[in-house]
Amino acid sequence: MRVQSYIKQAMSLKIVDLELVLQKGLPGLKILGLPDSSLKESVFRIKSAIKSQGFDWPKHKQVLVQIHPASVPKSGTGIDLAIAAAFLWESEQLPRPVSTPTLFGNLTLDGKVVRPLELESPFVESTEVPVVTGKGEAPILRPHYEIKELKDLILPELEESSTLKFKVRRPDLDDILLTPSQSNLVKAIAVGEHNSIFLGPPGSGKTTIANLISKVMAPPKPSIFSESFAISRFFGEPIEWRPVVSPHHTSTHLGIVGGGRPPKPGELTRAHGGVLILDELLEFEKSVQEALREPVQSGRISITRVGGRLELPAQFLFLATSNLCRCGHFVPRSNNRCRCSLRKLTNYVERLSGPILDRFDILNFSDDWRNEKPQIHVKDLIDDIQVAVDFRKNTRNQDKANSRLDLKELALSFEKVGMLLPESIHSGSHRRKLAFFRVARSMADLNSSESVRESHLVLSEKLTLRPFLTMTEDIYKYL
Ligand SMILES: [Zn+2]
Repeated sequence: MRVQSYIKQAMSLKIVDLELVLQKGLPGLKILGLPDSSLKESVFRIKSAIKSQGFDWPKHKQVLVQIHPASVPKSGTGIDLAIAAAFLWESEQLPRPVSTPTLFGNLTLDGKVVRPLELESPFVESTEVPVVTGKGEAPILRPHYEIKELKDLILPELEESSTLKFKVRRPDLDDILLTPSQSNLVKAIAVGEHNSIFLGPPGSGKTTIANLISKVMAPPKPSIFSESFAISRFFGEPIEWRPVVSPHHTSTHLGIVGGGRPPKPGELTRAHGGVLILDELLEFEKSVQEALREPVQSGRISITRVGGRLELPAQFLFLATSNLCRCGHFVPRSNNRCRCSLRKLTNYVERLSGPILDRFDILNFSDDWRNEKPQIHVKDLIDDIQVAVDFRKNTRNQDKANSRLDLKELALSFEKVGMLLPESIHSGSHRRKLAFFRVARSMADLNSSESVRESHLVLSEKLTLRPFLTMTEDIYKYL
């Protein structure tokens, strides 16, 4: 008989497979696969619970339990219920379930099932099936069945207990007017979830734009939002919409990235499923800027702890702002009021260029917005964005955001435009090319177009190739 259960690893619960056989041999229960002392003790609880509930314990057979993966040391008590259930099903004292169930609960000596506290943590690996567990005090997020005692263990007659109810509600939007290029920019970022950086002088609207993007995005996916919600509860501030996290640059590495003893999640995990805004990116500690590399690539962050590393979810849209010089007033391609020396200015631009910029799909100079008339109501963007996201999901059958597509996946949309690539693509890095194709895909979605057309490439070039060239090459002409 095979079932699934959880074992504790630091503050998270990991799925394990549990195999139980009855075989000839000395009667008793033996657990293989590196159990610790808390797990070894469960032998007594399980036997006592089974007998008190009126079931039989075999007098002439050995109960052998193997937990996979075998090489990882295991601790925790919630596995009691999984072993007891697997035994009752294997010995045919209860009807066997049709599929492999996941069970996690503590047993009392008289066979009552108690829900372990760990199941309330946000860091529970998800399974395909609801978890069978006992009653507890607080609501939990995972779909689950609640049973009172071993006798209730008759699947599939169990009714799925209600999971924690959360409300998804779009935050109120101020009636801001956007210029045409601001509106295009916001739509592209919100539709494709493209990491973006806004560069320019203070007061040019960088932060305003960064702050409104989460509000116009399509509603979050319930499976991700349930994780965001669990994390927000962990931080004591339950959310109703995608989280927006904007730590100050004076925040510590520990506070932003997570870690410590006992290990705690940081602001990067708090932004999971939402938006991380780093205002004045260059002011943040170098180690924070470095630590962003991993979550931006993989959607997870590993933090070091005693005895190993702990992985936490950290999948977010990353938005950043920065001045272009120390005094803040440098603007390429215009007369500007910058008071910095040439050396200082060059230093600043160089700090910004290269590896830092390469993490963003989109770069925008906020000063460009000044020459346009604000005329588009922010509220009017919501429908366009929703239609484009629905088109991606339902018509193109693509679940993940465009910003997470690789070149192979993107190629499907680009069959007809092979000859029309802009000149600027040849000077870009691999990362730049990817960004160019990903954003073009988002532009096509905003047009409900299955294939990417030349007009989409033109729009994408303005956001993904041209401004980066300005930063790395043209800008020196203005210094
Ligand atoms: Zn300056």
